[in-house]
Amino acid sequence: MYDVVVVGARCAGAATARLLAGQGHDVLLVDKTRLPSDTLSTHGLIRGGVVQLSRWGLLDRVLAGGAPEITHVRFDIEGEPKVRRIKPRAGVDALVAPRRRVLDSLLADAATEAGARLRTGLTATGVLRSDDGRVTGIEGRSAGGDRVELRARMVVGADGRRSRMAGFLGAGTLEEFTSPCAVFYTYVTGLSPDTYEFHIARDAFAGVFPTNDGEACVWLIRPTPLLEPIRTAGTARTAAFVEQLELLVPDLGRRVRAGRIKARMRGTANLPNYRRQAHGPGWALVGDAGYHRDPITGHGITDAFRDAELLATAIDHSLRDPSGEPAAMASYQETRDAMGCEVFDLTRALTAFPPPNRFVELQLQLSDALEREADALASFPGLTATLAA
Ligand SMILES: Cc1cc2nc3c(=O)[nH]c(=O)nc-3n(C[C@H](O)[C@H](O)[C@H](O)COP(=O)(O)OP(=O)(O)OC[C@H]3O[C@@H](n4cnc5c(N)ncnc54)[C@H](O)[C@@H]3O)c2cc1C
Repeated sequence: MYDVVVVGARCAGAATARLLAGQGHDVLLVDKTRLPSDTLSTHGLIRGGVVQLSRWGLLDRVLAGGAPEITHVRFDIEGEPKVRRIKPRAGVDALVAPRRRVLDSLLADAATEAGARLRTGLTATGVLRSDDGRVTGIEGRSAGGDRVELRARMVVGADGRRSRMAGFLGAGTLEEFTSPCAVFYTYVTGLSPDTYEFHIARDAFAGVFPTNDGEACVWLIRPTPLLEPIRTAGTARTAAFVEQLELLVPDLGRRVRAGRIKARMRGTANLPNYRRQAHGPGWALVGDAGYHRDPITGHGITDAFRDAELLATAIDHSLRDPSGEPAAMASYQETRDAMGCEVFDLTRALTAFPPPNRFVELQLQLSDALEREADALASFPGLTATLAA
C-alpha cells in the first residue's frame, strides 16, 4: 500500500511525485515509456514555468544540462522586428527551453532523489475501487505482460492529453473545444542561442526556441487546411516547411535554410482543448490529463508545474487529515480553474487566427496574463510553509 501512485512520469507526474515524496509520503511513479525520451512537444517555457523550476531548486540543473539561457525575445510582426531584453520579474530574468528528454528525466530523477520510487515500462490498464466506490489503486501491465495491482491511498492520473486514467476514473468534462489549427516543428542549427522568436503574419504564427546541443526548435502554427501541403508532402515535408517559412516569414525562412536541419518534422492538428473534473474520492488528475489547451500559447508545461504544486499541497493535507480531503481537493480544482481560465479563453481566440493586428493585441493580453501568473506562482507559499500555516 503506497500513499500515492502517480501514473505518468513527465512534467506533471514527476513534479507531483517529487513534491509529495519531499513531504515524506510513500510515492510510486509509473510510466509506460522508458525515460529519457522525447515526446511530441515543443518546449519553450514561459516565465511561470521558469519560476517553478527556480523555486523547486531545479533551474540550475536545467542550465547545467545544456539548455541555453534565453535573455531576449524578438517579436516580428509582418516583417517588422522588435527585440527586447527579458526584464527581471518574479525572481527570474531569463527563460529556458530544455529538450523534453532532458527536462522530463531531470524531473523524474529529482522525484527519486526525494524518495519516490519510479517504475517505467508499466502501463496502467484500470483502477481498483472499494465497495463504496472510492479509488484504492491501479491495475497495470508490465512490459513483460504480467498483470499487477498497486494499492494506494490516492491515485493520480498524470498520463497526458490522451489520458486513459480520466476514463477509468470517470472524470467529467467541464468545458471543451477543438482547435482549428495545426503545428509542425523541427530542429535547426545556426540560430541565435539566446533569443526566443515569435513571427506573426496573416494566418501564420512561427517561432524559435533555442535548446540543448546548439539546436533551436523552429515551429509553425496555421489553420489546419493551410498546413496540408506540409502534411501531405511525404519525404519532402521538410522542404515544404522551409518553403512555407520563406513565403510567410521570409527572414526566419532564410536563416532556417542557411542552417542545418537536424531532425525529421513532427506535427499534429486539431488538438482537443478541455477542462476536466480534477478529483473524486481517492483520485485526482494533473497536467494535460485534466486540463489541456492548444500549444499556441506555449503554456502546457507551466500549467503542469502550477497544478503539480496545487495538487501536491491538496494531497499532502488530505493524507495528514483524511476528513479534510473533500475541501482540500475542491480547492485544488477551484484554484486550477481560476488561474487557468484567462489563458484558456485567449487560446480559443488565438487559434481562430484573427487578422494580424488583432492577433498581436491578443498576444499582448496573453503576455500580461502570463506575467501576472508568474507573480502569483512566485508567491505560492510552498508545501512546507503551507503546512506550517
Ligand atoms: C506540438 C506540441 C507543442 C507543445 N509546445 C509546448 C511549449 O512550447 N511549451 C509548453 O509549455 N507546452 C507545450 N506543449 C504542451 C506540453 O507538451 C504538455 O502540456 C505537457 O507535456 C504536459 O505534461 P504531462 O506530464 O501532463 O503529460 P505528458 O508529457 O503527455 O506525459 C504523460 C506521460 O504519461 C505516460 N502514460 C500515458 N498513458 C499511460 C498509462 N496508461 N500508463 C502509464 N503511463 C502512461 C506517457 O508515457 C507519458 O510519459 C506542446 C504540446 C504539443 C502537442
